[in-house]
Amino acid sequence: MTKPTRGFPACHYCGNCGAGCDTASFFCSADHLLPFALETGKLTIRSNAVVARILTGENGLANGVQYFDRRTGAEQQARAKVVVVGASCVDSTRILLNSTSSRHPNGLGNGSDVIGRYLCEQIRLNVAGYFPSLVGTPTRNDRGIGGEHIYAPRFNHRPGHGRDYLRGFGIQFWNTGASVYGAHPGSKQIPGFGAALKKEIKQRHPAWFEIHPFGEVLPYAHNRITVDPARVDRYGVPLPSIDYRIGENERKMTEHMADTVEEIVKAAGGVLVDYRRGQLDAMGSAVHEHGTCRMGTDPKRSALNWFNQMHEVRNVFVVDGSAFPNASEKNPTLTILALAWRATDHLAEEIKRGAL
Ligand SMILES: Cc1cc2nc3c(=O)[nH]c(=O)nc-3n(C[C@H](O)[C@H](O)[C@H](O)COP(=O)(O)OP(=O)(O)OC[C@H]3O[C@@H](n4cnc5c(N)ncnc54)[C@H](O)[C@@H]3O)c2cc1C
Ligand code: SF4
Repeated sequence: MTKPTRGFPACHYCGNCGAGCDTASFFCSADHLLPFALETGKLTIRSNAVVARILTGENGLANGVQYFDRRTGAEQQARAKVVVVGASCVDSTRILLNSTSSRHPNGLGNGSDVIGRYLCEQIRLNVAGYFPSLVGTPTRNDRGIGGEHIYAPRFNHRPGHGRDYLRGFGIQFWNTGASVYGAHPGSKQIPGFGAALKKEIKQRHPAWFEIHPFGEVLPYAHNRITVDPARVDRYGVPLPSIDYRIGENERKMTEHMADTVEEIVKAAGGVLVDYRRGQLDAMGSAVHEHGTCRMGTDPKRSALNWFNQMHEVRNVFVVDGSAFPNASEKNPTLTILALAWRATDHLAEEIKRGAL
């Protein structure tokens, strides 16, 4: 937050957001939404409740959820007129696919067989190094907010930038400069030990950079989450199984990512450390999963309408990244929040007019 908000002070740029913000200057629903909802007296939070399935009646509509108490393992139910699912892309998909019944044999609201398909997780390169011109310079306060306070948005759609693939990538710069984390991951590449090694690490501290391009993966039907009845969790509920492959489009994009990184580093006079051109991080590293319960206008090709409401089960809303029709190359959370907000505004109106 750049300004005091809801009684919390503005960010003081200590850089330690990854450990949680002591002053709640970083937006987080636990600080900025739930306390205000609790004050209304209309919210009950049931924690340690691991949802397994959404329950449905003979009319095919949802009428509650089945969950297990995490401490005792006891099976419980909560009854509801409307169910809003927000267990993040993978687990929401798992819950929906496990919610089978005679009216929904392929998973809840999955007559289209769309749910679980079109998983889009971004690809990522992880490149690091240092600037010799900054080695040994005094440690400065380069912290900004934690993680990535420098971002290069997608540029390949702009005039003068040709490409032989669809979509694009943006670039995050983590741990660049004298970051709060002190010794950089690249320190392990420095030879030696003892006082001399410490001295060398300290000298490199203000000089370190990390460049992480995040690229969009197209929505492919074969990239899929299913549930595997042969593998269950400790409550006996089937676990998800993920099948994910990138294609030619993503390989071409990776080449362009590598060209771009090399161009930036060369122009800035940097030295790459442990560089392996085009070697993507393990699939799933971007932790930006989308697409497995996508929204759209055609119920044959999508599971939700534009209010995140199921086409086939009108009293179920799915409000996480699974609702996105594609991943883009961007960080998704504020868009997830905005769409969830829009969905629940719509839900409140529908309840008021007696439609739900
Ligand atoms: C290390 C890391 C860094 C990230 N950095 C960024 C970033 O800088 N910017 C950005 O935009 N995004 C970032 N993301 C992605 C971001 O965290 C997600 O996009 C976002 O949290 C998704 O929100 P969500 O509400 O869908 O899911 P979540 O925030 O994961 O919330 C889902 C909730 O559902 C609960 N849940 C799951 N299954 C069940 C169940 N069966 N029963 C009951 N409860 C259940 C979970 O405990 C969790 O509380 C990052 C992710 C990671 C892991
Ligand atoms: S930099 Fe991060 S942890 Fe520090 S005050 Fe700002 S939001 Fe909070």
